[in-house]
Amino acid sequence: MSSSGAILESSPSHAKGRIFIVSAPSGAGKTTLCQAIRRHFPDMLYSVSHTTRPPRPGEIQGTDYHFIGKEEFIHLIDSGNWAEWAEVHGNYYGTSASFLDQGLEAGKDILLDIDVQGMLKILKKYPSSITVFIRPPSLETLRDRLESRGTDKPDIIETRMINAKKEMAQAHRYRHVIVNDDLELATRELILLIDSYRQNRPITRNP
Ligand code: ADP
Ligand code: 5GP
Repeated sequence: MSSSGAILESSPSHAKGRIFIVSAPSGAGKTTLCQAIRRHFPDMLYSVSHTTRPPRPGEIQGTDYHFIGKEEFIHLIDSGNWAEWAEVHGNYYGTSASFLDQGLEAGKDILLDIDVQGMLKILKKYPSSITVFIRPPSLETLRDRLESRGTDKPDIIETRMINAKKEMAQAHRYRHVIVNDDLELATRELILLIDSYRQNRPITRNP
């Protein structure tokens, strides 16, 4: 992969804007980091996913997710609405194709917070997407964060831990990996990384 940034500009499918994909095992701090990115780069678009999962306390319809019913989600699969969709932890999640295409066409950079399966599907359609994997410092820390977040029942936490191990084994598929140990440092690292692409001087990728 080029480190000059030229590849970003030469892709005919989305020459006008860039897609940044951030993935992480649940509880690693992806939402927290993506919120910081949204505040730091207010001109970037954030792809608000659709999900059939019920909202957690404090989540806002249309801001955190578009919360929809299963029937509607399936109808939207049939009508080709999704750039990608996946079943995660027993719920459906999808990324709107028209949102991505219209944003890119308008020259906007777009942030996506999606899982590994979603990243692979987006990368097929938009090969110059910039992929970032957020790692927790350890699985123990991940469990602590899930428990202290207090939003998931113990059985759900167990499912998330099993998935986390599988997801962490996929980190090598990402162009960049950031360890979210100290939140402030990880936030700064992610901001610098995104900014480097936006300035057309991408920093070194995941070896
Ligand atoms: P995700 O979106 O990946 O599931 P969250 O952003 O919801 O994760 O973070 C999970 C929990 O861990 C939240 O309570 C959050 O405040 C906390 N958290 C995130 N990053 C850190 C960090 N670096 N150190 C300690 N706690 C963190
Ligand atoms: P949560 O329910 O904790 O918000 O998200 C669970 C997982 O679903 C996370 O890994 C998150 O990145 C992923 N996710 C959120 N939106 C989408 C989406 O639109 N597509 C895919 N494939 N995954 C998503």
